[in-house]
Amino acid sequence: GEPVLVLDGIQHAYHRTVAVRGISLSVRPGEIVAVTGPSGCGKSTVLHVAAGLIRPQSGTVRLFGQQLEGAGDDERARLRRSKIALVLQFGQLVPELTGLDNVALPLLLDGHDPKEARRLALSWLERCGAQDLAEVGPPEMSGGQAQRVAVARSLITSPQLILADEPTGSLDSIGGRELLDLMLGEARRSGAALVVVTHDNSVAARADREIRLLDGVIASEAVLA
Ligand code: ADP
Ligand code: ADP
Repeated sequence: GEPVLVLDGIQHAYHRTVAVRGISLSVRPGEIVAVTGPSGCGKSTVLHVAAGLIRPQSGTVRLFGQQLEGAGDDERARLRRSKIALVLQFGQLVPELTGLDNVALPLLLDGHDPKEARRLALSWLERCGAQDLAEVGPPEMSGGQAQRVAVARSLITSPQLILADEPTGSLDSIGGRELLDLMLGEARRSGAALVVVTHDNSVAARADREIRLLDGVIASEAVLA
């Protein structure tokens, strides 16, 4: 099928720090891509560009066949809400809401029946091993707990593309691996494409393809079995 994501010649600098210098890649429906490489090589920047959160200085982004450059802010937000799930490192949960309502939020914003949304949210919390957090507010959660809730929230909308930035960063390695297993499993089960930024070699080994960045460029690309 048509690629869900195409990056073409992406370059981006923060002030004088050139973070990404000419990255092109294409992700097929259902494909699981691991983006790896040392700290500071540009992984997060690539993911933020793909999500439409950063406008690159040059290059183009196409999501589901639609060019982001031409899209207005509302259109980008709509694309993000309807087809993409983002799991970012920081600042993802609404501190005033319970764990349950954070997970239900995408459905509530979309006008779903609140009771049904909360029922589904509870089942996703359970699948993510976070049912105990239904009534807990984000300020009371550990980093790892907050990430479990964020993953549950990202999966509740049945996204076609999941963009995840080191979702296990705040988890101990066993808990982190469990959560990544869940994300990989859900992506495989539902046919969603997954682009996951990770330091973890065992995660990368389970992807369909590993893209290794070095100093803002693709240093190597490996198709895995
Ligand atoms: P990682 O190496 O795990 O990606 P970093 O600590 O490099 O984590 O980055 C974490 C976040 O901080 C990123 O979202 C990035 O945008 C931001 N960041 C990284 N470096 C800088 C910097 N020099 N100035 C401001 N923000 C930065
Ligand atoms: P990675 O995710 O691989 O750690 P990043 O994309 O976070 O890499 O960062 C790439 C480079 O850009 C690093 O040198 C980082 O310090 C810098 N950087 C990232 N975000 C910012 C920012 N908001 N302001 C300034 N520099 C940044």
